[in-house]
Amino acid sequence: MPQMNFAHFRGAVPRFQNYAAVAEQGVLFIAPEAGVLPRRYDPFEDSEGLLLDVVRAGAAVAGCDAFMDHCLSHKMLPLRDAEFWRHGDFFTARPDGAQPLVDTLLAFVRRYGLPVWEQNTIVTTSYPARYEQRAMAVHFSEDGGGNDMGYLAHYEAVKRACSRSGAVPACTLALMLLNFYLQFLEGMDGGHFFIRNAEWALDFEHNKTPELRAQVYDLTACINLAYAQLVSGEGKAVRQCKHCQKFFIADDWRAEYCSPRCRGAYNSKMTRKRVKERKLREGQ
Ligand SMILES: [Zn+2]
Repeated sequence: MPQMNFAHFRGAVPRFQNYAAVAEQGVLFIAPEAGVLPRRYDPFEDSEGLLLDVVRAGAAVAGCDAFMDHCLSHKMLPLRDAEFWRHGDFFTARPDGAQPLVDTLLAFVRRYGLPVWEQNTIVTTSYPARYEQRAMAVHFSEDGGGNDMGYLAHYEAVKRACSRSGAVPACTLALMLLNFYLQFLEGMDGGHFFIRNAEWALDFEHNKTPELRAQVYDLTACINLAYAQLVSGEGKAVRQCKHCQKFFIADDWRAEYCSPRCRGAYNSKMTRKRVKERKLREGQ
């Protein structure tokens, strides 16, 4: 039986000339400039560059202690964007600690546009590995629940308003990017995802292998498809170099260094360290 060819994705993702951070009702939004129509671009033109920028931005969220501490102190388990309506938005509550993260989010959005904030899902993710123990401790010490569900109605109302204006809360965007980072870098189980805002067409031009083509209008779907395409087939992966900490596309998911130079540098650093430790031991 001939196999269907899935290789043809084309993106048509809206991107505005500029975006700004705007606070409204205690929540910080990343909003497109008003009164201008967006242009569409194709993220698949440089899908490896896109994936690297996604993990860089996600790593900035994962590495932001102030953000993680805010979430932990409000016992957000798992991390859900709706909780920021119950407990208060990190980005407006802590403007000092939040500013570098806002800058990162804005830089990402100016380059790639905003993902669609989906009507019928709450954006959910978990903590980076280095927070796992603290998150577990929260989980077992208190239920963190509460019966007040009123915040969800407010959350839904904001979401409906956003689908008209095209804005996305900074906290929602941060969790989306963190989620990608955890899936791509820390191997968190991504489960299955929906490809919304896409048009699919079967192309029988070459009769033997019909081609399934997709035109994708949403950044989230583009990122998921770009990643699926990267890891399937050739088995490439997004990795972080053990020596220089740079993110890179590896031909093999087991790769630990971005270059032979970094492997050499790391190995000689470890050798120097071992020699130093031995000298210390022998000196005592
Ligand atoms: Zn390196």
